[in-house]
Amino acid sequence: MTIRALLFDVDGTLAETEELHRGAFNTAFMERGLGWKWDRDLYRDLLRITGGRERILEYARRVGAHVDAVAIHRRKTEIYNERIQAGSITLRPGVAALIDHARGNDLALAIATTTSRPNVTALLEATLGPGSSGWFASIRTGEDVEAKKPDPEVYRLVLADLGLEAGECLAFEDSRNGLLAAKEVGLRTVVTPSIYSADDDFGGADLLLDTVEDLLNDRDFLQSGSDKIVLSGSRW
Ligand SMILES: [Mg+2]
Repeated sequence: MTIRALLFDVDGTLAETEELHRGAFNTAFMERGLGWKWDRDLYRDLLRITGGRERILEYARRVGAHVDAVAIHRRKTEIYNERIQAGSITLRPGVAALIDHARGNDLALAIATTTSRPNVTALLEATLGPGSSGWFASIRTGEDVEAKKPDPEVYRLVLADLGLEAGECLAFEDSRNGLLAAKEVGLRTVVTPSIYSADDDFGGADLLLDTVEDLLNDRDFLQSGSDKIVLSGSRW
């Protein structure tokens, strides 16, 4: 089957955004005088819940607090975007080159994420350059779905937007929830574990790599119009 599109998760896959998210949550909590501070271990645990607003609600439940999670999450998103625009984040190794390769080889690009739309646009424009969000034929985010990953809804929407079958696409994920969502719709999935997902169970992944840079070292990989989508020596 010919690969016609690359579908990317955002957080942890395009960039190690979770540390920036964590810092933005903590600043938003501080601004509201909540006295909450999420450290790495706590945040790793909360990441099992997809969606920032849902994480705030879960933590509030644990500590027995009643908070306006919508307002806190809105402010957290603003802080995150301010920091992205200030240049506080870079793409993971190989991501920019892979996107460049796709654009030069008639491969469509898409985003399938459960993060907020402003986060996605800000990250793309800050790292790939102004106007780069227009390179993506479909960008589906947390606002577009009823159920977040591991539910496959966001991937179904992207496939419908592209008018492609799952077998014509390759998904890139960094977490178990993302992998489950992608596999549920039958997508071949490359997993590049991130700081916070390194201990996840990646059983079922079609390819497990440290970074997508490894893909680019094989010039036969991902050629449009070719069945060859696997590089030699990989765990495909
Ligand atoms: Mg992710």
